Amino acid sequence: MKDLSLDAVVPLANKTPRQELEDIAEYQGQEEAFFVMDVGDLMDKYATWSEVFPNIKPYYAVKCNDSTIVLKTLAALGANFDCASKGEIARVLSLGVAPDRIIFANPVKQQTHIKFAAKVGVDLMTFDNAPELYKIKEYNPSAKLVLRLVADSNDSQCMAMGLKFGARPNEATSLLRQAISLGLEIVGVSFHVGSGNRDLTAYSRALSNCRNFYNMCLEQGVQLSMVDIGGGFTCEDFDKVSASVLSSIEEYFPPSTGVRFIAEPGRFMVASAYTLATRVHSMRVDRDRPMYYINDGVYSSFNCLLYDHASVTPIPLKGADGPLYKSSIWGPTCDSLDQVAEDCLLPMLKVNDWLVFEGMGAYTLAAASNFNGFPATAVHHVAPIEKWAQLKKMCPGCVSRDE
Ligand SMILES: *Cc1c(COP(=O)(O)O)cnc(C)c1O
Repeated sequence: MKDLSLDAVVPLANKTPRQELEDIAEYQGQEEAFFVMDVGDLMDKYATWSEVFPNIKPYYAVKCNDSTIVLKTLAALGANFDCASKGEIARVLSLGVAPDRIIFANPVKQQTHIKFAAKVGVDLMTFDNAPELYKIKEYNPSAKLVLRLVADSNDSQCMAMGLKFGARPNEATSLLRQAISLGLEIVGVSFHVGSGNRDLTAYSRALSNCRNFYNMCLEQGVQLSMVDIGGGFTCEDFDKVSASVLSSIEEYFPPSTGVRFIAEPGRFMVASAYTLATRVHSMRVDRDRPMYYINDGVYSSFNCLLYDHASVTPIPLKGADGPLYKSSIWGPTCDSLDQVAEDCLLPMLKVNDWLVFEGMGAYTLAAASNFNGFPATAVHHVAPIEKWAQLKKMCPGCVSRDE
């Protein structure tokens, strides 16, 4: 089956993605908000990951941004995938990805989803509790299990992943024993330090716990073959965080331990590839404070403000001189919760001016709704021509257009 999904990517010969954004905003009678997505940026992030972590296979976390172009590009680059549901597994398989490139990394799975995974050949999956083991025993006794340990960062954008997931180190022994007595196979151990992690020591603590579990397994006659260091990576601190990961791996898992490493990056791969352009369609000034209403809000792309604990920075498309005003920015719906930013310093804008938001690819489009009748924000996919040519070469069946 020919899948030409990457045909939607426009090669840019003589301009940058940013210039493309300006052209769309300024010259084409554009009214709605829109994204410009630079596939080249996604390819760069994947290349950076592979350079820094040549021995840590990325399983891209689909929930972060499940756009077909993102998934297709990453599949062509050689990434594997972290899926959390039957729907995500089906989606990734439908793009021609083999089932052994998928980890079912949701520690709490519905029965029919486990059954579905077994039927399509996705055997690698995480768990963190005993009842899950009984379900897996019933619906996929030949699963390859990865124990998810709790691993909370002391500083991350989304705190307290550990409130919901992860076995405590003192629960791990009994889970291991139960898995063994059920005849199930444990192949690895995993954790997630929390999305948007800023704590440089989080991975080191987690890897130390993984090593303890590895030793515990050896005592029970089980040789682990895999450690999954999860997600939580950002572009901002990647140098420092990756250095700490690499040195902790050296410390806790020297080559003699025989384990291979995988990770589940989401945000790191896609955040910076997307730039959102919104238009000021209405405004008023309340006690010297401008209030701007833009055509995207918390019910759509800015759901990240609520669900992802994000904060965003509006940048006027046209830099303007003159005094700055403490301004507030609001989404288009009739709900007062729908506020995008408050107390930001901006020059005085007018109706029809554009505000740009950078780094909007992670946990934005994926959870957008059509509340109040506002459509999802469209995405213009572009790639610098040399990146586009590279993509076409990597995935010849995905692109039919010529330069
Ligand atoms: C959400 C999630 C990820 C991705 O996290 P990022 O912070 O976006 O890298 C990875 N693994 C699991 C199990 C997740 O739930």
